[in-house]
Amino acid sequence: MIRFTILGAGTGVPMPQRSPAGVLVQIGATPLLFDLGPGTIPRLDAAGVSYRDLEFVFLTHLHPDHTLDLVMLLQALNYTPSFTRERPLRLFGCVGTRALYDDLLRAYPSVAPRGFELTIRELSAERIAFDAWTIETAPSAHTATSIAYRIEAEDKALVYTGDAKENPALIEIARDADAFVCECAFPRGYATRDHMTADAVGRVARAARVKRVILNHLYPPALEVDVVAQVRAEYAGEIIVAEDGTRIQV
Ligand SMILES: [Zn+2]
Ligand SMILES: [Zn+2]
Repeated sequence: MIRFTILGAGTGVPMPQRSPAGVLVQIGATPLLFDLGPGTIPRLDAAGVSYRDLEFVFLTHLHPDHTLDLVMLLQALNYTPSFTRERPLRLFGCVGTRALYDDLLRAYPSVAPRGFELTIRELSAERIAFDAWTIETAPSAHTATSIAYRIEAEDKALVYTGDAKENPALIEIARDADAFVCECAFPRGYATRDHMTADAVGRVARAARVKRVILNHLYPPALEVDVVAQVRAEYAGEIIVAEDGTRIQV
């Protein structure tokens, strides 16, 4: 069983109900955090998971709406009264994650981990097995190094695209997923070179035969139309429009 909570269903554009990107995935008692845009850490707490207990953090790409709370997480781990972090923090991300981390430490030297180890592993297209779950990554074509994640546990699969652009690797990584948390940035016909439009979401969901699609990372123009109908024109399965706090179990 995989439980997940959309901590931020929005973008870098300030909007009520839709904060910058973050997805909490829970496999048994293990929380995994995918992306941490501004405000993700307090919303994680509101979802019932303390930042103190986070061990695994994954970045899809390095834009601020997906990464700014990394520095807040590090600050909180160093400076929470009566708390000493000892467990390692394992940061995974696209190529460039280490350079971002080094830049953050240059800008904010006081967040360098105190008393705990931080490991960084950069990913492109790979599959990594952990104890009770596996992670698979593929290029999401939003930036030169951005990646989508597939999380498998028992016989279930969740795919989180981060920001993405329609491409064959996205269909492959989303194959038969029980839940496909897909960027739906803009409505059909909207001119974009590096984001998903609603019809593209529907085409990928159909080609990958996913069981349900969760429309995520919606810019205001996507909310001004019947975005579900635009996806529905291409895809016959279940469609959910994410808001902050949307919680699903597969
Ligand atoms: Zn974004
Ligand atoms: Zn982006």
